[in-house]
Amino acid sequence: MIDLHELINNPSREALATWLAEEDQTKVEQLWEAAGRCKSETIGDSVWLRGIIELSNICERDCLYCGIRCSNRKVDRYDLTETQVLAAADFAWKERYGSLVIQSGERTGTDFVKRITKLVRTIKHQTNNTLGITLSCGAQPLETYREWYQAGAHRYLLRIESSNPNLFAKLHPSDGRHGYTTRLQALKNLKKIGYQTGTGVMIGLPGQSVFDLADDLLFFKELDIDMVGMGPYLEHKDTPLFALRDQLIPQDKRLILTLKMISLLRLIMKDINIAATTALQAIDPLGRERAVLAGANIIMPNMTVPQFRPNYQIYNNKPGINEDAELSKSKLERNLAEMGIKIAWDEWGDSLHHQKRT
Ligand code: SF4
Repeated sequence: MIDLHELINNPSREALATWLAEEDQTKVEQLWEAAGRCKSETIGDSVWLRGIIELSNICERDCLYCGIRCSNRKVDRYDLTETQVLAAADFAWKERYGSLVIQSGERTGTDFVKRITKLVRTIKHQTNNTLGITLSCGAQPLETYREWYQAGAHRYLLRIESSNPNLFAKLHPSDGRHGYTTRLQALKNLKKIGYQTGTGVMIGLPGQSVFDLADDLLFFKELDIDMVGMGPYLEHKDTPLFALRDQLIPQDKRLILTLKMISLLRLIMKDINIAATTALQAIDPLGRERAVLAGANIIMPNMTVPQFRPNYQIYNNKPGINEDAELSKSKLERNLAEMGIKIAWDEWGDSLHHQKRT
């Protein structure tokens, strides 16, 4: 049996990088098992669900890896109507998901801000305040975050994508609108306001080393984050980063690397929420379930109406784009049951770490 005591109590960059580079399958499986046990003992065995609504693929940003970046003219842009969003929220409520996520391309402007505020208020009212709401609508000014928090959103996910400022710069245009420090400050503002604050990174990027990934894990710890959603980097052919695809490791190795990242994070931040992201499912149909066994505890089934799902592809071959919410749910339930994973229905599933932190 591997001894992880030292790593857990005093995680060093070197030790984390060594684990990320580990290729002995027996040892890697022991790592996943240890993280799974750690999760069970700290926050329980069940997974919490957050139904995800992809509100709009209109984005003002131009991230070099993203299929819905504003420069990609091949994308059909859409904006869900209020009726469509509220119907999805109603589905989440009646199907006992406990929580939902409203995700959108990053937009500024009063109309957008007020629209989110109204949606959050209406959903809280419509569900008698029983449905938890997470927002993922990009880097915004502190006042906007405060307005949405006061409207009833209590969790926010803003991925840093890489904690290494040099690597971050290679993923974004150098136009002054995509700054690393802006994003970092936004994360700090979210915490200050009181949100359960989440971030995340892409794993297996061109030019990314195991030391960069070890630094990402230490970044989460240093920032004392409440939730993490991280997944393998997956290419989109209509993006500038696609030109570097020859530098990538194979997708199955990116999957294994992501599972190791999840396990290591679980061991060094025992009580946070960790999502099993959809990008894992793009590589392996059971990728999310494998992530749960390796330490993740959140799954976000898609509830976007099928008509618009193909138009929200940050990476190519996103799974489930031909499904409706009902089918996404039933397939997920079946997969989880087959792997002996229970769902905690009707629960917000707040981050235990946030409860202790505040
Ligand atoms: S990653 Fe997010 S902010 Fe960047 S272009 Fe895509 S949707 Fe917009």
